[in-house]
Amino acid sequence: MSPTPVLRQLTDIDDLDRATALALLDRAQALREVAGGRAPALDTLAGRTVVNLFFENSTRTRVSFALAARRLGAEVVDFHAHTSSTAKGETLLDTWRTLHAMGTDAFVVRHADDDAVAALAAAIGPDVPLVNAGSGRRAHPTQALLDALTMRQCLGDWSGLTVTVVGDIRHSRVARSNLKLLRLLGVGALRVAAPAALHADDLDDPAVQRFEQLEPALAGADVVMALRVQHERMAQGGSPDPAAFHADWGLTTARLARAAPHAIVLHPGPINRGVEIASEVADGPRSMILAQVGNGVAVRMAVLEALLAPAPR
Ligand code: ASP
Repeated sequence: MSPTPVLRQLTDIDDLDRATALALLDRAQALREVAGGRAPALDTLAGRTVVNLFFENSTRTRVSFALAARRLGAEVVDFHAHTSSTAKGETLLDTWRTLHAMGTDAFVVRHADDDAVAALAAAIGPDVPLVNAGSGRRAHPTQALLDALTMRQCLGDWSGLTVTVVGDIRHSRVARSNLKLLRLLGVGALRVAAPAALHADDLDDPAVQRFEQLEPALAGADVVMALRVQHERMAQGGSPDPAAFHADWGLTTARLARAAPHAIVLHPGPINRGVEIASEVADGPRSMILAQVGNGVAVRMAVLEALLAPAPR
């Protein structure tokens, strides 16, 4: 099996150099059978406790971090913000202090605020194992890792790939972390496609081609990553009409025909059928959406292992 990389915290892709990113991906690949429940769980993290601290909704990320920890032999504590003392006004840092005082080892944090996870990392210091499970629009590093792994499994090394990210780029932490990681890994070409209002100025970069129409952005693409319209991050009344969005920006089989014949379709989920993606594409032969989900457990195992193994801290 490939060796376990060592990492204390993963708050953003900036915490990784290329060698560490590759080592995490190789380790995740090696862990796939255990991650998928097809091989017995490991005991690498026996006696360690991982806390899932989620202040924003989640299905895939929360469950896959819990499974990843359990399949490494760790115990998991699931913290629910809406039924906790957060509802009584307790701050994130005080919540962390409380849970840390109970003898827990690693923290997986999701928060609606762009800066919450970075601020927590600054407050608790660099030695406490911490993973960002999605912070506002800013970062979602384990999503980017699982996306990169899925690309490599389907299409080989990233250097030959043209990757098109399409949809609500502006509000997407998935887009931000993916662009950073794919550049770090040396992707062939990067494209972002969105209506003008859903582009993000902070992502303007000569290395990223920007499109305001879908069809040309899909031409010859090897990977098409569709993103959900993130209504929860938009001002009231600012959301596009779902049917109108689908008419201009929905990923349909007819539109996908412009991509490379072997192109794969990714989506971080949750999908909104008939909005950013048609069911025929989401459920079609090019869709790797459920493969992404499976890779999520493997990547999160690799990350937790890197944070906590081998020596207790
Ligand atoms: N699940 C992803 C995230 O947490 C994408 C989304 O919510 O649309 O960012």
